[in-house]
Amino acid sequence: MPADLIDGVSIAREIRREVAEEAARLIERGTRPGLAVVLVGEDPASAVYVRSKGKACEEAGMHSVTIKLPAATSQAELLLYVERLNSDPLIHGILVQMPLPAPLEADSVIRAIDPRKDVDGFHPINVGKLLVGERDGFVPCTPAGIQQLLVRSGVEIAGAECVIVGRSNIVGKPMAALLIQDAVGANGTVTVCHRHTRDLGLHTRRADILIVAAGRAGLVTAEMIRPGAAVIDVGMNRIDDPTSPRGYRLVGDVDFETVQQVASKITPVPGGVGPMTIAMLMSNTVRAAAAFARAAE
Ligand code: NAD
Repeated sequence: MPADLIDGVSIAREIRREVAEEAARLIERGTRPGLAVVLVGEDPASAVYVRSKGKACEEAGMHSVTIKLPAATSQAELLLYVERLNSDPLIHGILVQMPLPAPLEADSVIRAIDPRKDVDGFHPINVGKLLVGERDGFVPCTPAGIQQLLVRSGVEIAGAECVIVGRSNIVGKPMAALLIQDAVGANGTVTVCHRHTRDLGLHTRRADILIVAAGRAGLVTAEMIRPGAAVIDVGMNRIDDPTSPRGYRLVGDVDFETVQQVASKITPVPGGVGPMTIAMLMSNTVRAAAAFARAAE
């Protein structure tokens, strides 16, 4: 029997509805959650993400500001914008869209964001809080969304063999930190694979939960899957497709057609992890706003 689809679109919709309800409660008490997104340069994919983040916020009744800066913006100017947003009382979440155009450098920008407004969860303070299990920090949106996909589709994480392919700071590492926590929706036994892993299949075949974030189309095939595993495909790869109006289509890192025959649950690409990332960004922004509101009481 082919695997059940884990429907990221409908789970993300559910979370966005919950976030909108929470935002409405905060607004009633005088705080409208506000997100500022900073976009430097003209990268078309980044512009699309930024537009959809703004739109999603507005749909949830939140305040949203997009700051578009030219690619020639200097590091000092960018840091100045971040400083201004740090002290803006209408803004509770700040996101600087990555990647930044060269020669701008991301680390100092991430560190300049007030950790209380770091809704991307990339500031070392929030990375550290995640690792030590302090719940008042922010978890990066993609791994937080994957955890929600698993929990809300009834995948048992406690005690499960969880194998993660990819060790980026955005997905793989925070994913591992989340799943090994002694917490509800966690308590997994986690293995992290990367490009130096000697025999990838040896590890993936042990996985009850396999999360693939390598950015390599077709990396994971059916013979690398344990029968009955839950498979989360984070990859977003453009491959040429002359039959598509755009000339390309989006595929994940997992060979969906064959893996679907072996797994018990699987996320599609698109429509799996992608929609969750924005939903969790909104969720983090509302949490940030709630924390500021509490601190002001
Ligand atoms: P990255 O390029 O920073 O890291 C890729 C990781 O995969 C590295 O740690 C590398 O060691 C590992 N890797 C590469 N080839 C491998 C191989 N053959 N075997 C084992 N490991 C291998 O990537 P990232 O930023 O984490 O993104 C990964 C993918 O997820 C990309 O396709 C990206 O577009 C996608 N992504 C999607 C979302 C979303 O919201 N859907 C969010 C973030 C990233």
